[in-house]
Order: sequence, then C-alpha cells, then structure tokens
Amino acid sequence: MDNKLFNITKVYKGEIAFNYDIKKLMSWKIGGLVECIAFPKSEQEIIELKEYVEKHEIPYYIIGKGSNILFGNQIFQGLIIYLGKNYTSYNIEEVTGGFKITCSSGLTLAKLGNIAKEEMLSGCEYLSYIPGSIGGAILTNAEAHKQAIGNITTKVKVLDNNRIVEYTKEMCDFKYRSSIFENKSNIVILSIEVYLIKTSKEEISLKMKEAKDYRLSKQPNKPSAGSVFKNHSLGPAGKLIEDAGLKGLKVGDAKISELHGNFITNENMATSEDVIYLIETIRQKIKDKFDIDIELEIKLFNL
Ligand SMILES: Cc1cc2nc3c(=O)[nH]c(=O)nc-3n(C[C@H](O)[C@H](O)[C@H](O)COP(=O)(O)OP(=O)(O)OC[C@H]3O[C@@H](n4cnc5c(N)ncnc54)[C@H](O)[C@@H]3O)c2cc1C
Repeated sequence: MDNKLFNITKVYKGEIAFNYDIKKLMSWKIGGLVECIAFPKSEQEIIELKEYVEKHEIPYYIIGKGSNILFGNQIFQGLIIYLGKNYTSYNIEEVTGGFKITCSSGLTLAKLGNIAKEEMLSGCEYLSYIPGSIGGAILTNAEAHKQAIGNITTKVKVLDNNRIVEYTKEMCDFKYRSSIFENKSNIVILSIEVYLIKTSKEEISLKMKEAKDYRLSKQPNKPSAGSVFKNHSLGPAGKLIEDAGLKGLKVGDAKISELHGNFITNENMATSEDVIYLIETIRQKIKDKFDIDIELEIKLFNL
C-alpha cells in the first residue's frame, strides 16, 4: 500500500476502506480490488479527498452507483470516491408554480422518484427505475420513456478544478445520452436542482407501474450495466445487434441477452475481458453488416 494514500485518513475523517473488492458495488458485478475507497457524506469531504489526491498525484475516479461502468478486473492503485452511499441529502422547497428539489449527486433516481411520489410531484416517474445516482444521470442525460433528467433540471453545481461552479440548464448542453460534463476531466457533479409540478398520486403510480412493467418484460433480470451501446440513426442498437444475429452469444460468463440485444449480462463470474471481447465482436459484426460504427454508452475504467 502506497503510504501517501494511507495517510489520507489524516485529512479525511469520513467512511473509508482499503483493499476493497469493488465488484460488489457494480451493477455488472465485475471489477477487481481497489486500493482505497471513500464514501464521503458532504461537499466538504469530497473537496478534502480531491485536494489530497491531486496534491499527491494519486489516480482517482468518481462512482455514483456503478450502474453504467465496466470496471476492469485488475487491481486499481488509487482512490475511488463513491458517492452513492452517504452523499444523499435533499431539500424540497415550494416555488412559483411548482416545487424545487435540491439533491446531492449521490441520491438515487429511485429515491428521487419516491420523494416526488410522496409529495405528489410529477416529472421523474419513468426516471425512477433507472438504477443510478443523480450525478451519473446528469453526466449522460439519463432518460427513460422520453423523460430525461435534463428536462427537469434547472441548475447543476459542480466542483471544477477545485472551484465550485453553477451551471444553468442551458449551459449543461443536454443531448441524447450526453451533457457538457462528459468531456470535462476533473469535475465532480455535486448537486442539482430539479423543478417538478403537482399532480395526483394516481397519475404518478400509473406511470411508475408502466415503467416497471416495461422493464420486467423487456430487460433481463441478471447483472448488467443497461444498454451497452448508444442508439444509431439507422435504428436502436439492440435491434441492430439482433439483426446481426448476435443475441445469445456467450463468451466466458458474459452473454448478449436473448431478451434485449443491447444488454450484456453476467451469467455468473464474467470478467471485464469477457465483456470486452463481446463488445469488440458486436462492433465488428455491425460494421461488416451495416457499414456503421456504433458508440459505447457505458464508461470503461481500469482496463
Ligand atoms: C438494468 C439497467 C437499466 C438501465 N436503464 C437505463 C435507462 O433506461 N436509461 C438510461 O439513461 N440509463 C440506464 N441505465 C444506465 C445507468 O443506470 C444510468 O446511466 C445511470 O444514470 C448511471 O448512474 P450511476 O450513478 O450508476 O453512474 P456510474 O455508473 O457510477 O458512473 C457513470 C459515469 O458517471 C461518472 N459519474 C458518476 N457520478 C458522478 C459525479 N457525481 N460527478 C462526476 N462524474 C460522475 C462516473 O465517473 C462514470 O464515468 C441502466 C442501467 C442498468 C444496470
């Protein structure tokens, strides 16, 4: 263990673990040992961690809930800042015409959906079945049933090169599975404000049931990271993969789902190498059959 990393506990007093098996926190259940993982609960703790690793030139990576990342199997020598456990506070305020909810970026979309339901606020019913955090959702403008996080977001607060900066919705440049934050290195999405309007509990329950039923019937019930590729103008990636005859292809314990061609499931003990092999196979077959390049939706780390 690098002494510099161990000494982080001199400046950071929050929850921390060393030699941690990251796979248990990843939705794919894939990943190796990480030297150090911290679970900050406040903006101040995030700043302390980031300043420390930058000062000592220690590699680090931010994880929200780990539902959109292929984390490599080798040991990661550095710090993981995991926000989806303790950095989850929120505040609701009535404003003209509706309600403003300020959420820390580690809050899950499921929790936001439940809060909104309790308060009878509409705008995130479909989003609430995406198994990620607010921060991860903002990065790629997560969306379900045409309801995108960017639609309800009015402000995003980020730590950008150790300065706190507030972005208005317009500055975020939300697009299909993308935002301005995707191409910025060294940023941490700290919190966001969403604007929701009152509706009836019945209407919310109906939409949430629709979202849940859709997922149960269309998505495999095995560890995955959701859609692996972004859709293409030629068609949904899942359909292209199906048309290329790839559904059901298995390498090691990783399998292209029979139910949804854009999902790669971990059937038991899949490794990052198994998944990468399938990803490369899909890319090549799609190129051969349709002469197009499809783009990854998931993020790759430590490969
Ligand atoms: C079964 C299943 C279904 C899914 N369905 C959908 C769907 O319908 N629609 C959809 O859009 N997505 C879907 N996803 C993908 C995923 O859940 C979303 O992209 C989600 O928003 C990712 O959030 P996360 O917290 O898990 O991000 P993570 O996986 O933790 O991180 C993803 C990326 O964001 C970065 N990041 C995370 N938090 C922060 C932060 N606070 N500041 C800076 N960078 C950060 C990470 O470094 C990483 O690069 C699905 C995934 C699964 C497993």
